[in-house]
Amino acid sequence: MNRLTGKVSVITGANSGIGKRTAEIFAEEGSDLVLVARRLDKLQEVEAACAAKGVKVISVSADVSKYEDCQRVIQQTIATFGRIDVLVNNAGIADKHRPITRCDVDWWDHVIQVDQYSVFYMMKEALVHMEAAHSGSIINISSIGGTSYNSGISYSAAKTAVISMSKNVALQFAGQGIRVNVVAPGPTPTALNTPEQISTFDGEFAAQCARHFDDTVPEVSVDDQAYAILFFACDESRGCNGQVIVVDNGRTI
Ligand code: NAD
Repeated sequence: MNRLTGKVSVITGANSGIGKRTAEIFAEEGSDLVLVARRLDKLQEVEAACAAKGVKVISVSADVSKYEDCQRVIQQTIATFGRIDVLVNNAGIADKHRPITRCDVDWWDHVIQVDQYSVFYMMKEALVHMEAAHSGSIINISSIGGTSYNSGISYSAAKTAVISMSKNVALQFAGQGIRVNVVAPGPTPTALNTPEQISTFDGEFAAQCARHFDDTVPEVSVDDQAYAILFFACDESRGCNGQVIVVDNGRTI
């Protein structure tokens, strides 16, 4: 408890899955919160649950694939709280496991915009304030698709870029009080990973990707992901910068 007391954390994709659980755990740890996703009604349910733990919470409806929405999120954060200590870039979509020969350009653009550009936009805006404060912790959510390339081409490209962008920004601010680290989840039961979603996958390429998996290893939980995110958010991880934690029960070792 109280690992994040006095801090203000922005969490994207906070109305579902890993982001929602991260918001709940951050609230238990004392962080004030800015919850971000497109659907305000769903966000407000998470807002109420987090506020009940005694922290101040606002919800901001935004499409993080749009730069102007990301600017607005950070503006509202500063207008409400005057600071931003932690940024969790968690919002993302899956890519239906489409390989390059079956991935059209519109689909490629869409996945890259949501899964990669959003991380650039949000970091760029938040860092203005973190740089002025000489303080901040950014946690970007990649995937084993970004460490083992076992997903469709667009998701793999975006999630690998999340890691390289994180390390690049970590390098820029190393030793200056600002840290950027990555959590790379393995299969975790959320809305992104339901049997209905999996039925939309390109089956042939998914089977090829599965060569990199040990499917006998169980899935991880949203708690497992959220506690890894908490580790990088709090000051106890102050020595970690530009690092990647893969949270997959060892499935891709
Ligand atoms: P989820 O579908 O439950 O949550 C995704 C969240 O992102 C939702 O809140 C959704 O509203 C939000 N979102 C999507 N597009 C958005 C946009 N354009 N603007 C704003 N918000 C948007 O899925 P999850 O599993 O909790 O996913 C969270 C992160 O974890 C994602 O980045 C995902 O790629 C990553 N991940 C998940 C798994 C898994 O197996 N669940 C594995 C590897 C990586």
